[in-house]
Amino acid sequence: MRRVSAAAAASRCCCRRQVVSSSARRRVSSSAAVAAAPATTPVAIVGGGPVGLTLALLLSKLGVRSTVLERLPAPSVHPQAHFINVRSMEVFRSLVDREGRSVADSITRLARPRDEWSRFLYSAGPLLNGTSLGATNHFPPETLAAIRDQSPELPTHLPQHQLVPVLLEALSRRPDGSAACDVRW
Ligand SMILES: Cc1cc2nc3c(=O)[nH]c(=O)nc-3n(C[C@H](O)[C@H](O)[C@H](O)COP(=O)(O)OP(=O)(O)OC[C@H]3O[C@@H](n4cnc5c(N)ncnc54)[C@H](O)[C@@H]3O)c2cc1C
Repeated sequence: MRRVSAAAAASRCCCRRQVVSSSARRRVSSSAAVAAAPATTPVAIVGGGPVGLTLALLLSKLGVRSTVLERLPAPSVHPQAHFINVRSMEVFRSLVDREGRSVADSITRLARPRDEWSRFLYSAGPLLNGTSLGATNHFPPETLAAIRDQSPELPTHLPQHQLVPVLLEALSRRPDGSAACDVRW
């Protein structure tokens, strides 16, 4: 596997650096983070959004360490993506920490009840005072029953600013007891 200098890549991104401790994210000065970080990494992942962090978790499951390089100084506070489909939940189900808890379980615990978000309102113009085009429940009982026939997981709603901390926590709780990767902000 091609070895990449994470420090060099990070400096190109002009990132402020941060590491994930076993309990919570801990800010450190740039120089301390650089000193503590390995000089090389098997895989450098550019971007610490849901995709980058999930990739780091999947690599960790295969025993591959990685370094996530994120240009933002901290996770975004904007909700952004919020709907998690069944296949994504199945992937999260396969990611189990050292206490036997899966990422899917953590997501499900935080997610709002389906009744609160399964009805979609379609509107032309502003949502609240535009022309209503219709409303529908995308997950009536028969749809949920059909999904349950095929999967142990269900579609779930958790906004990205809540999902990212779950993924960061999972990265700090890998089964082998060591951090799966360095996350540098
Ligand atoms: C304003 C807004 C509203 C949205 N609303 C919704 C919504 O309602 N529902 C929905 O499902 N989706 C929504 N989305 C889309 C959703 O945010 C994306 O589908 C989702 O975030 C994709 O995840 P990702 O991990 O691929 O990318 P991102 O979450 O964008 O993560 C990519 C990360 O890479 C970092 N990055 C990029 N370039 C570099 C670089 N050169 N060096 C270092 N770091 C870098 C970025 O800072 C970012 O943190 C919205 C997006 C935006 C911007």
